[in-house]
Amino acid sequence: MADSATAPARRADLAEVGAQASICERCPHLVATRTQVVFGAGDPDADLLFVGEAPGADEDTQGVPFVGRSGRLLSELLAGIGLSRDDVFIANVLKCRPPENRNPSAEEIAHCAPWLMRQLELIEPIVVVTLGNFATRLLREDTAGITKVRGAAEIRTIGPRTVRLLPVLHPAAALYTPSNRALLEADFGLIPDLIAAGPPPQEQAVAEPEPEAPSVVEPAEDSGDQLGLF
Ligand code: SF4
Repeated sequence: MADSATAPARRADLAEVGAQASICERCPHLVATRTQVVFGAGDPDADLLFVGEAPGADEDTQGVPFVGRSGRLLSELLAGIGLSRDDVFIANVLKCRPPENRNPSAEEIAHCAPWLMRQLELIEPIVVVTLGNFATRLLREDTAGITKVRGAAEIRTIGPRTVRLLPVLHPAAALYTPSNRALLEADFGLIPDLIAAGPPPQEQAVAEPEPEAPSVVEPAEDSGDQLGLF
């Protein structure tokens, strides 16, 4: 559990940041087509933060991340390790739906990354699980594809926070290729021990009132090992 002494203030700040994001207009093309900003959902004191790619049609309509088929699978995977959505916080790299569910552009990712950095700073998770290629490449600042790095936990300083980072396949990958579900289940099986290990030392973390966006890694070809989306 995150630092309870500052939890009320962090919760209030997270709500304020969410209110600011809800009227964000940094990406004019997305503003023109979105129904609403999908900031994130879950426990603001969560030890576990999931970062996906971007809202889809269901998420855009409901204003909640991961509520479609991928979301149902995410809930099942959480249940498999004794957790529910209420125990975690779920966010995306982009807070607005790209039209036709196209890939996020590098410019959009750069525009939206500061919102994610604020979420990291205020939620203070122990573990960050990146779902798929876009979140993994952004938070690892590396072009390595998800199929090469999935299941390999590492300690990373991401903006204001040092965390235990675990890349996993995007749940949608298991909808298209059912055999990927076993890989997801195996990787989710690592999460309880990562949480139990506690937060890594924060001495490398740099708290900034206005965190800069991390350098954006252009989505790279994935050597054909998996669809780039995941
Ligand atoms: S995607 Fe992010 S940066 Fe772009 S308009 Fe939406 S909230 Fe703002």
